[in-house]
Amino acid sequence: MYPSGAQFCLSLTFDIEMSYNFPYWHSDYDDYGAIDPHVKQYVHTMLDVAQKYGVELQFFVVGSALEDPDVDYLKRLVAEGHALDNHTYRHVNVKAARIPDLHPSYKRAPWRAGNLTPLDCLRHEIQQTSAGLRERLGVAAKGFRTPGAFPNGLQDSPAVQSLLHEEGFRFASAHYKCPTERTWRPTRADMEAAVRLSLDSLQPYRYPNGLPEIPMMGLSDAIAFRTLDLDRWEYIHHATVAVDHAYDHGQVLSLLAHPSYLAARDPHCDMLDTVLRRALDKPGGCWVATNRDISETLLAA
Ligand SMILES: [Zn+2]
Repeated sequence: MYPSGAQFCLSLTFDIEMSYNFPYWHSDYDDYGAIDPHVKQYVHTMLDVAQKYGVELQFFVVGSALEDPDVDYLKRLVAEGHALDNHTYRHVNVKAARIPDLHPSYKRAPWRAGNLTPLDCLRHEIQQTSAGLRERLGVAAKGFRTPGAFPNGLQDSPAVQSLLHEEGFRFASAHYKCPTERTWRPTRADMEAAVRLSLDSLQPYRYPNGLPEIPMMGLSDAIAFRTLDLDRWEYIHHATVAVDHAYDHGQVLSLLAHPSYLAARDPHCDMLDTVLRRALDKPGGCWVATNRDISETLLAA
């Protein structure tokens, strides 16, 4: 099923953006693309770890980060063969039904949208980001990740599915679900069960128009650190539970994390190092793939 007879598949995906509550609880960002120098440095550390294991990672970036005079960290990432794809220009809500719901900047200045519909604005955001990736880095974006993730993916948004298909994307990544029985202070066992259920229910699939969806599975760093306030090694424990479950069931495991959270909470890249070592040590082998690889290999039309 997987290339080279591997028993399971691991994709490690990272959204490059700033995030509220990180690095400080009061941190808030209107421009998610104002990437902090320490977050850029963290990306370099991640690339060092990837190099050590000889694997490629999947990144997504907000277009406004490409306005920064210093994009050397992105140039290195691209030069070393990692995948870099589209995360909209300003981290807009792809399901917004009204202009002000797209992003705070549209709420403050809805006239920026002119006569455009929210869907037209989304198309513009996506096209600007793909143009920025081409201009600054010579990269052709092939995949799209929605800002925020949805427990039903894009299933209730056929117009967004069509837009992504029309824009030529080879995959979308919009679907995330990892619910615990107890929403308030779930136990470790509750969380482990949720991680396993997430993998069982969120394997890659296609939308009705043929667009592949590669969901985010297991526990995201945003939920781990912002919602649950987990300790770093507790978070890493749940990532290894996901690796073991994917191996036992021959599944795809696509994990979501953010350099902006990890730089604050996992400064030495222990998650990346631990997950890769655990996956690559499994007998029979692990196919470490980017989402681009998954869409082209497992979901080829
Ligand atoms: Zn994001």
